[in-house]
Amino acid sequence: MTVLPEATAGHEVFAPDDLGAVLDKAAQVVGADRVIYPEEAVAGGPLSTPLGPNVSLYRSRTVFGVVRPQTAEEVRRVVGLFADGRTSARLHTFSTGGNWGLGSREPAQDGAVVLDLSGLDQIRDIDVAQGWAVLEPGVTQARLARLLEGSERMLNVTVSSAGTSVVGNALDRGVGLRHQRVDDLTGLEVVLPSGELIRVGWWPDADRTTPVYSHGLGPSLVQLFVQSSLGVITAATVRLLPRPEDLRVVRLNFTPDKVEAATGEVQRWVSQGLSRGVVKIYNEAAAKAYDSPAGQYLVHVCVDGTTEAVDALCGIVVTEAVKSGLFTAVADRDARDPDAPNHDIAVRVERAYAGDPDPTDVLFEAKTGRPAARLDEEGGFLFFLPLVPFTGPALARVDELVEQVRVETGIRCGVTLNALGPDLVDCVVTMKFARAEDEAERAHRALDRLHKLFVAEGFIPYRLGIEHADWADRLSAGTGARAFARLLKDAVDPHHVIAPGRYT
Ligand SMILES: Cc1cc2nc3c(=O)[nH]c(=O)nc-3n(C[C@H](O)[C@H](O)[C@H](O)COP(=O)(O)OP(=O)(O)OC[C@H]3O[C@@H](n4cnc5c(N)ncnc54)[C@H](O)[C@@H]3O)c2cc1C
Repeated sequence: MTVLPEATAGHEVFAPDDLGAVLDKAAQVVGADRVIYPEEAVAGGPLSTPLGPNVSLYRSRTVFGVVRPQTAEEVRRVVGLFADGRTSARLHTFSTGGNWGLGSREPAQDGAVVLDLSGLDQIRDIDVAQGWAVLEPGVTQARLARLLEGSERMLNVTVSSAGTSVVGNALDRGVGLRHQRVDDLTGLEVVLPSGELIRVGWWPDADRTTPVYSHGLGPSLVQLFVQSSLGVITAATVRLLPRPEDLRVVRLNFTPDKVEAATGEVQRWVSQGLSRGVVKIYNEAAAKAYDSPAGQYLVHVCVDGTTEAVDALCGIVVTEAVKSGLFTAVADRDARDPDAPNHDIAVRVERAYAGDPDPTDVLFEAKTGRPAARLDEEGGFLFFLPLVPFTGPALARVDELVEQVRVETGIRCGVTLNALGPDLVDCVVTMKFARAEDEAERAHRALDRLHKLFVAEGFIPYRLGIEHADWADRLSAGTGARAFARLLKDAVDPHHVIAPGRYT
């Protein structure tokens, strides 16, 4: 079953006449076994999708083919085939394609040839002492973390599957357990729409050691290629974080009537530097995956540093929590006590904060109900990702809006509040649904309502799913900002070859 939004239901897109020839040339570059072209595409008839289903039941876009290069040079040559804009097919890129809830592997618009970069999977270079790695898009968080095991550096991991891409996630401004992943991006290798390959930001210099610094001199260019349709990324330099000597996660619970006061109290701890990394606050629905007591919110506060610092900070957080009288439970030793009922989950949570993604995806599966490899075929999942001020009243308002959506649609959303600092929360709203027509329809209606209600409140999304790609225009602040972005797009990509509709 595929959800078809009304405007595009039944919409047929035909392959450009010259597409077969362009894909043939791509096959000469990457090898025939690394190009998928539906028979119908060559014949110029209506097309089937070679991407398969997606977990969100978004309408499958018409895809004219999939090309799977294995080197940056192959990417450069394939992009070059499209550079003159003579074929009207456009290029959509993914790294490992785990963009679940926002579109999975699907492009925003119909009529794309998809560049699957999972085969570019080299860790080209790494310097643990200096704290950087040069990664290709197909490098997964599990692989890099394994390489760093036992070293003095760690990766800022996300709680998505261990098999997802470090680079792909950062390019959509993903959020790790230490901070937003864009903060770890220090340099990018980019194939421009012309087919030229450039490097921006910081890159290792074989002849001398330079400090890792992403901005360079003059305009800072790395961020120009994040959530951007200005190029295809073939590698990135990524910061590796110092590994803390010790680390603990304090677990707290509070009842829903205390949302405003308890989140306000946690904000005070964050602003006073009592926590490290991203404090996470889960509503009742989201907390279930962590075996949290029913009907309660769950908070994870990470503290790290030397053992003395961890002991002291843990003690302070626990004392503050008890003193506030807002929490029903406070625990800081579950991961060290094999008899604690929550021991196994607590260990997995602490390991993730310490840079080790769980290769068995136990918590990921508890959230999605499916292993990553079968999620797109069998699961039902949508994301809505607004930013919200980190204040008790704003987070209590989030609760009210989510409850309003439940009353209107019957969909009970999970909410995870990721504190990105003392003033900002990445509010992850999830909708898990059964893969049946009426449930999917209600979940998509809930998603639409969330966009309208949250945006009216000033809670603006920082990542968009493919069905709401056009919201980028409605949501951008700043006089002339969108017009300037378009000016850049027209100058760099005059034929709009790369990722049309994705944030542009
Ligand atoms: C249970 C669950 C938990 C999750 N937890 C998190 C989390 O903690 N943090 C988080 O951020 N997300 C999370 N996600 C969302 C998602 O799974 C991750 O963001 C994941 O890393 C994205 O998949 P990917 O790395 O394969 O990126 P991809 O799907 O490959 O890429 C994402 C997008 O970036 C662009 N892109 C990728 N590569 C390139 C390239 N080389 N050149 C140009 N553009 C490119 C494309 O637009 C692409 O659609 C979660 C999802 C689920 C279901």
